[in-house]
Amino acid sequence: MKVYADFEIRNELWYKIGGKVRYLIDVESKEDIKKAFELLKKEKIKKFFFLGLGSNLIFKDEYFAGAVIRFLPSSNPIRLIRPHIIEADAGVVLDDVINFAFDHNLVGLEWAGGLPGQVGAAIRGNVGAFGSEIKDSVKEAEVFEIINNKPRFKVLRRFELQFSYRNSIVKKKKLGVINAQFRLTSADQGVVNRARQTYLNNIEYRKIRHPLEYPNCGSIFKNISDPAHIQKILEVYPDLEEKIIREWHGKVAMGYLIKRLDLSGYRVGDALVSPKHCNFIVNLGSAKASDVLSIIKLIQNKFAETFDFVPEVEVEIIQ
Ligand SMILES: Cc1cc2nc3c(=O)[nH]c(=O)nc-3n(C[C@H](O)[C@H](O)[C@H](O)COP(=O)(O)OP(=O)(O)OC[C@H]3O[C@@H](n4cnc5c(N)ncnc54)[C@H](O)[C@@H]3O)c2cc1C
Repeated sequence: MKVYADFEIRNELWYKIGGKVRYLIDVESKEDIKKAFELLKKEKIKKFFFLGLGSNLIFKDEYFAGAVIRFLPSSNPIRLIRPHIIEADAGVVLDDVINFAFDHNLVGLEWAGGLPGQVGAAIRGNVGAFGSEIKDSVKEAEVFEIINNKPRFKVLRRFELQFSYRNSIVKKKKLGVINAQFRLTSADQGVVNRARQTYLNNIEYRKIRHPLEYPNCGSIFKNISDPAHIQKILEVYPDLEEKIIREWHGKVAMGYLIKRLDLSGYRVGDALVSPKHCNFIVNLGSAKASDVLSIIKLIQNKFAETFDFVPEVEVEIIQ
């Protein structure tokens, strides 16, 4: 376990935004996790937050008077435990799991190519892309719950993880994930090569569509799926009916709406609504959380004015 006091968190996060935290605690094992919570008890710290790569967070600029517990991979972070079952530590990035699988002639996770993040957060949020979700491959996960300042460890099988759209029991009960097992499909070399190509294509697709050349935190808002809200949008833009059915699978793409509301390129400080994909607010260098949050507020106000509802934020705002 490594402990850093009064630590500037910004550079550890994907978005490169955030203030100081009272403690950053790096953990690699159950022993480390126990020790971390002993420290929290001793220091009477109530507030704690689990951190992966920080790719889906806006960490505020103000002092975080709690502990950030970051999961690092152990010395043997990805293990083949049966011919088609891989176990990976929470702190392993998904891309490494996928490549480990290919090296062992296993396929099934290639849809997640380029999806930033670690195993722990992927389980928590049941990440998904291109019509697949992580739950499709999860066999079980080892988790812990904090009761009276002590971690209680247990293994939850797939059905006990209660996966749903971008959700799981880990999120609902604020559990920590230590590791997860993935049940994959054994394949011959031809199938593995094709899966590897799909994986590379997905990475390429993301590079073309997303403004990855700047620090970002993924999609800021959820796409609009509430029928009442879609109706309100159609009252203002009746021409979108066709696109909603044919292109957006019954939803309305937030990136499109933000652009149509003329907010592409809108900038506060070093935070910019990306002209490449307007549902991304990129950090041009030294953006503050307050800059990003004021753009979010502006977009919400514009929606309230134009459509009479406020879009839901997807990214997590910490503090
Ligand atoms: C460019 C870009 C594209 C993206 N595309 C997609 C996409 O296509 N599909 C999709 O689903 N998501 C997407 N995301 C969102 C992001 O990839 C996921 O939310 C991912 O799971 C975040 O992983 P992370 O390790 O960065 O987690 P973090 O951002 O560090 O944390 C996210 C949440 O998980 C919690 N957490 C972290 N580790 C653990 C743990 N071990 N145990 C319990 N809780 C933990 C944190 O407390 C936090 O609440 C995208 C993000 C970006 C930046």
